[in-house]
Amino acid sequence: MKSFDVVIVGGGIIGTSVALELAAEKLRVAVLDRQQPGEEASCAAAGMLSPAPDSPRGIPLAPLANESLNLYPEFVETVERASGQSVDYARKGAVEVFFGIEAETQRDKRVTECTRLGVKAQAVKFEEIRKKEPLVSSLARAAVCFPEEARVDPRLLIRAVIGAAQARGVQFFPDCEVTALEFRQDRCAGVRTLTSNFVSENVIVAAGSFSASIGGENNQLARLAPTRPVRGQLIALRRDGLNLTCVLRSDHVYLVPRRDGRVIAGSTLEEAGFEKRVTASGIQQILDRAIELCFELAGAEIVEMWSGLRPGTPDDLPIIGPTDIDGLLIATGHYRNGILLAPVTAKLIKECITHRRTMFDAQAFSPLRFKETAAHAG
Ligand SMILES: Cc1cc2nc3c(=O)[nH]c(=O)nc-3n(C[C@H](O)[C@H](O)[C@H](O)COP(=O)(O)OP(=O)(O)OC[C@H]3O[C@@H](n4cnc5c(N)ncnc54)[C@H](O)[C@@H]3O)c2cc1C
Repeated sequence: MKSFDVVIVGGGIIGTSVALELAAEKLRVAVLDRQQPGEEASCAAAGMLSPAPDSPRGIPLAPLANESLNLYPEFVETVERASGQSVDYARKGAVEVFFGIEAETQRDKRVTECTRLGVKAQAVKFEEIRKKEPLVSSLARAAVCFPEEARVDPRLLIRAVIGAAQARGVQFFPDCEVTALEFRQDRCAGVRTLTSNFVSENVIVAAGSFSASIGGENNQLARLAPTRPVRGQLIALRRDGLNLTCVLRSDHVYLVPRRDGRVIAGSTLEEAGFEKRVTASGIQQILDRAIELCFELAGAEIVEMWSGLRPGTPDDLPIIGPTDIDGLLIATGHYRNGILLAPVTAKLIKECITHRRTMFDAQAFSPLRFKETAAHAG
């Protein structure tokens, strides 16, 4: 039996960022992962750091997303310094493009809504779009510029966060599948794994889309962390001389540049269970839309195709904070924004553990909100 101050279930970007933050408080932290840490959703992401809501259901997330975007420069500095690795972070903005006769109306609506939410957004005139990003299709009729948006390479980021956490003394246990939470009286007192038990004052569940399925005779996680996988496919493209300066997106597709010249095009939103297949129709859909947004990509080489499982939740919002079980906290369900939300999630969880309260009002993301919904429905 091993003993720690904090045991974190899941070594994705959320679990490792929380571990990094808690290790700075001199807590003894263990990260348990059923495979190598960082091999699930976190290494599949595109890496946009965009607080602009991508659907009406994402609107309540904007303040938290803004807060996290503001924390990013310091987060990156800490991670790069502690790990000695670069994460390809760049704050070069994003351009969102609209097509068709409604384009200007859609653009103005988007600017008004984002501004109301505190997300800096500027209308771009038709004749100025290609000055902002020369590679935008000439069919674009209007655009919005998000000057404060940033991007990062998630594969570099997760590796660097793991390195930084190890440098701070966090212990990683790969190939260590958690099968159940352990309870002593009414407290969560640790976890059971396939090979041994871990005792801990605090258990944090950060197992991404798998969180709800961690069982045991007392499966509280299906109610406190009701996650489900939402598949997304991505393509890496490369064409000599084609260099996007910023993130480019339309209603249907996004293009994220990498430092090495690749362009990441995505994505799909699919309810396909835990199946991580790359499909012909998914790839066709992304390519059609990517080429519509940037004609020059038609001649690009396909370097890689992959898919990942976003941790979705019933209301599309993350699940962050303490539960009604002493010693059990949740940090999961970050759906389409886990890379962006890692710094603020780590900060909130640290505050919950060290001060028993958070500076930011995170009530909307409480694990208890599903219990309340169930009670009202019943
Ligand atoms: C195609 C795609 C594009 C995306 N683009 C973006 C983007 O541009 N910007 C952005 O901010 N976000 C993006 N995301 C979302 C982001 O990737 C996720 O929200 C984020 O990675 C979730 O991180 P996580 O640590 O919660 O989960 P994961 O990275 O899935 O990590 C969970 C970990 O838990 C482990 N685990 C599971 N069960 C157990 C168990 N029983 N015992 C021990 N360990 C266990 C897993 O092995 C895994 O390592 C994208 C996602 C996808 C799929």
